Amino acid sequence: MSSHPVAAGRVLPTMNEDGSRNWIRPRPSDGAWWKRRRVVAYTLMFVFFAIPHVKVFGKPAFLMSFPKREFTLMGYTFLPTDTLLFMLLLASIVIGIFLLTALFGRVWCGWGCPQTVYLEYLFRPIERLLEGGYTGSRKLDREGNFWGPRRLLKYAIYALLSLFLAHTFLAYFVGTEQLAVWVQRSPFEHPTSFMVMAITTIAIWYNFTYFREQTCLIACPYGRWQSVLLDRQSVIVAYDYTRGEPRGKASTVGTGDCIDCKACVTTCPTGIDIRNGLQMECVHCTQCIDACDSIMDKVGKPRGLIRYSSQEALAGKPRRFLRPRVVLYPVALALSLGALLFAMAIKESADVTVLRGLGAPFSEEADGRIANQIRIKVTNRGSDDARYTIAIDGVTGGRVIAPENPLLVGGGVTRETSVFVLLPRDRFVNGEHAITITVKDGARFSNVIPWRLQGPSGGAP
Ligand code: SF4
Ligand code: SF4
Repeated sequence: MSSHPVAAGRVLPTMNEDGSRNWIRPRPSDGAWWKRRRVVAYTLMFVFFAIPHVKVFGKPAFLMSFPKREFTLMGYTFLPTDTLLFMLLLASIVIGIFLLTALFGRVWCGWGCPQTVYLEYLFRPIERLLEGGYTGSRKLDREGNFWGPRRLLKYAIYALLSLFLAHTFLAYFVGTEQLAVWVQRSPFEHPTSFMVMAITTIAIWYNFTYFREQTCLIACPYGRWQSVLLDRQSVIVAYDYTRGEPRGKASTVGTGDCIDCKACVTTCPTGIDIRNGLQMECVHCTQCIDACDSIMDKVGKPRGLIRYSSQEALAGKPRRFLRPRVVLYPVALALSLGALLFAMAIKESADVTVLRGLGAPFSEEADGRIANQIRIKVTNRGSDDARYTIAIDGVTGGRVIAPENPLLVGGGVTRETSVFVLLPRDRFVNGEHAITITVKDGARFSNVIPWRLQGPSGGAP
């Protein structure tokens, strides 16, 4: 007898009454929706593996570089100074998710989320092959051993797959060239990245071996948003209560079409009963549709007792495509995307940042002149090398020392140089003197920046 307090009934699909985990081994349902999702799943896997190798305009299709604080998407690089562009991009993604959910429910969870795609079409098929399908035990493998050879083989294959997925995932952050260098060298030469890789591999292995549906139920916030993102006209996977109830054996007179076989429950990867209505745990994977359709075929009833529908349609109300959120989300998305594209189109081919020298704001030379150090940082947004000429106006009677002028900056690279301006002390009024800094790349780019040199506040001694 359990030493834990026992609940009156199961409170969660993945928790037993004594609080222990209810391990779910869903029965596969090889129906039409399963086959469609399989095509999508393997296509998405291919896309995930291919993207780090794809170049657009000579740049990665996707690269989120934390050390450089840059994000490259489809050949366009967002720099740390591109806060507005990045915010517009994020806003467009979030509004796009809102729109997708309002129209098609949790289609992302069931069809596109890596958690579903890899668990259902990579890890679970291997488990079924080695340990048996729905009837397989979590505790024992096919031979009845906890640590039998089949289970060990499964864990080893999972580890290899996790290693591969972790490497692919890391390529999105460091690029394939850097990854190839690390893979060929000793981990002691790059201990931090090796640790990141090891932790990512273990996390992926743990997720697909043990945590599984808990990621959707506990860790992912998206399911909890569905109550606000969906409306009663949104497309959901739903049980036709009117047609199915009262449930009972097919031979019993007066029952609905549901024969209470529970095939929809045993196939559900999150362990819920779709007949209880729309639930947070439902990832809209369509497995219960396939399971129920095959039962309906067997009992000679029309398919679609569980189907894609909406809460209003199931209640017998007319489908209404146009409703406020389906109009407002596209308008917001068009505005956000339009602003993003416009801001990208008018963006200059280079970014210039001017900073004061480190340390004291100015220094006094032996001949009495006041020296200011100006740091000029240039980011070349193009893909070819460029030479940026630096010109300083407003320094008549003074001297400009620019060790690197023009400044050569490679495509997609940021470089910094220092310019020193020496001015007679009497040119400073109230401790300042106004100049302009012009950074030019021929006729392609020109940026004029007003600047104030610092000097002694007393002016001439
Ligand atoms: S699979 Fe269909 S018939 Fe069987 S219990 Fe579920 S809804 Fe009822
Ligand atoms: S209820 Fe149906 S659609 Fe929802 S998660 Fe379970 S099997 Fe998938």
